Amino acid sequence: MKIVVAVKRVIDANVKVRVKADGTGVETANVKMAMNPFCEIAVEEALRIKEAGGADEVVIVSAGPQGATETIRTALAMGADRGVHVLTDAVLEPLAVAKLLKAVIEKEAPGLVILGKQAIDDDCNQTGQMLAAVLGWAQATFASKIEISGETAAVTREIDGGLEKIAVKLPAVVTTDLRLNEPRYASLPNIMKAKKKPIETIAPDALGVDISPRLTVLKVEEPPKRSAGVKVENAAELVAKLHDAGVI
Ligand code: AMP
Repeated sequence: MKIVVAVKRVIDANVKVRVKADGTGVETANVKMAMNPFCEIAVEEALRIKEAGGADEVVIVSAGPQGATETIRTALAMGADRGVHVLTDAVLEPLAVAKLLKAVIEKEAPGLVILGKQAIDDDCNQTGQMLAAVLGWAQATFASKIEISGETAAVTREIDGGLEKIAVKLPAVVTTDLRLNEPRYASLPNIMKAKKKPIETIAPDALGVDISPRLTVLKVEEPPKRSAGVKVENAAELVAKLHDAGVI
């Protein structure tokens, strides 16, 4: 079985994001970028399935500008076999990404596709679900455990009330939650080996996909600054204040 993993290049989770002065988006020029953390978990899971004998190839797909090649290379250094880079400078909405992934997946014919549950830049949490819909495949989102046996994947999902276990028929789309695994670091020899692994570059047009945006961003702004709290002298004062505020 082949596993396709979709990875997104985002602003590094440790960087303090700054909103552009004109409110049209966030500053990405000269900002450290990295693989979306949920995508790292997706790569790790695909590698573990392969290492356990459940898959024979792990293919990494990313859509985005030139820099996305670096993110694919990071996944190859973790141990993935090859990459596909859908090269575009256009702003990609989840539906466009889902359609691009569908076109690549139809060529690759994997048994399993793993995505992150959400990208930490736009926090959309839509692409996996949309991809399953456009492919007409089963989906198991927010996975904290994946067990493959034959034509089925048993997936434990993180839901509000706790954990839910479902079985999906393969091929299927799975999205990763935080507790699925702890991604490995790439070793130096593997970073060197990854330089020689193939990355195919494709243009969205060549896949016959219209990626024009359907949404208009009206304004991006910083969250309001939190106002300072009030110090109380004792518990009685706290209770009185909570009472006055109608909390108790
Ligand atoms: P989102 O729906 O934007 O929150 O993203 C959820 C997941 O979809 C990410 O963790 C990735 O696995 C995948 N994804 C989103 N955007 C891209 C992209 N441009 N290229 C490849 N995969 C993507």
